[in-house]
Amino acid sequence: MLNKKSIDDIQVKGKKVLVRCDFNVPIVDGEISDLNRIYGALPTIKKLVANGGKVILCSHMGKPKGEAKPELSLAPVAIQLAKLLGQEVVFAADDNVVGENARKAVEELQEGEIVLLENTRYRIEETKNGEVFSKELASLADIFVNDAFGTAHRAHSSNVGITKFIDTCVVGYLVQKEINFLGNAVAAPERPFVAILGGAKVSDKINVIDNLLDKVDTIIIGGGMAYTFLKALKNDVGMSLLEEDKMDYALEMIDKAMEKDVKFLLPIDHIVAQEFKNDTPFKVVPRGGIESDWEGLDIGPATRERYTNAIANAKTVVWNGPMGVFEMENFANGTKAIADALANIDATTIIGGGDSAAAVNQMGYGDKMTHISTGGGASLEFLEGKELPGVAAANDK
Ligand code: AMP
Repeated sequence: MLNKKSIDDIQVKGKKVLVRCDFNVPIVDGEISDLNRIYGALPTIKKLVANGGKVILCSHMGKPKGEAKPELSLAPVAIQLAKLLGQEVVFAADDNVVGENARKAVEELQEGEIVLLENTRYRIEETKNGEVFSKELASLADIFVNDAFGTAHRAHSSNVGITKFIDTCVVGYLVQKEINFLGNAVAAPERPFVAILGGAKVSDKINVIDNLLDKVDTIIIGGGMAYTFLKALKNDVGMSLLEEDKMDYALEMIDKAMEKDVKFLLPIDHIVAQEFKNDTPFKVVPRGGIESDWEGLDIGPATRERYTNAIANAKTVVWNGPMGVFEMENFANGTKAIADALANIDATTIIGGGDSAAAVNQMGYGDKMTHISTGGGASLEFLEGKELPGVAAANDK
């Protein structure tokens, strides 16, 4: 059980509190085109402001690779934050992130006021977890709060390095929520516990499958990665995605499932297409019935029904990876059926970040899930059972 101190466990009144946020937002023509990450950061910021902290925010955005690139400045984030919070957010424009301008802005902070630092990746040391930059960041604050789950699987200056130089290091509400659901709910789930795994490749999810086989009652496989399992079981898969070098692994996983008494479900029919595009002839074929010049782009109707039934009585479900090429309308039905099934069961439903989160939101099921992770890579590493450096670095309770 991960039991980390959060902002509810500390006193911040009059203290300088540096919060590592995830403001890695898309910018189109100088405007932020998706505000979700900014909304996600608000509860922690509001709490610190309300409790009288002197709040210093920092984040990376994009990959400026150690250069002060104006198009990747966090200035537009400060404007947006001020609008959403209804209070001034001082932007500490500073090519060195922690330079004279930033120090001055922090010095002038009063209780309940907010400063936003410049893009931490303007500094080349950031992604190398460099000590000098870590110390500089730490020198600004009395307390450190990590609320950036998206980078929690990386050890950088602004989320891990800094914790060596500040005694009080806690997690914010966003990271706390991820720990509760992806960490603790998966470690001690209410049963039956079902994992649904899809997406393009087996190779990306090897460790996830392996780890979850020790924990779940049922594993459901869909998406492009199903074909490597089916081919390993001697089914024809035509032109479908196939990782031949992972077929042995696929068989190992099927054996492990049998040993552990875990139900391991693979598609029993497919929607196959002639080309990898939406407007192309397509049809339903049974397992093993994919002709040589067709490719499977979605699970078929019988599989949808089988998977929906397998989920019906679950009490905990973790889902990572779409069931088909959901970006194309003709091949989105499998993913939609799973999202719909999850929306209608009485269970803790946890969506790993990345494509499955995008699919669930895009299909309008976002508010029907218990938890949608904000971190793609980080959520996968959590499901692999790995310790995330950004989480590990916070003080234990
Ligand atoms: P991942 O990032 O591994 O979760 O993979 C997500 C991607 O897998 C999405 O862009 C889907 O379009 C793609 N995908 C899912 N099913 C298939 C399939 N049967 N064939 C090819 N690509 C697929």
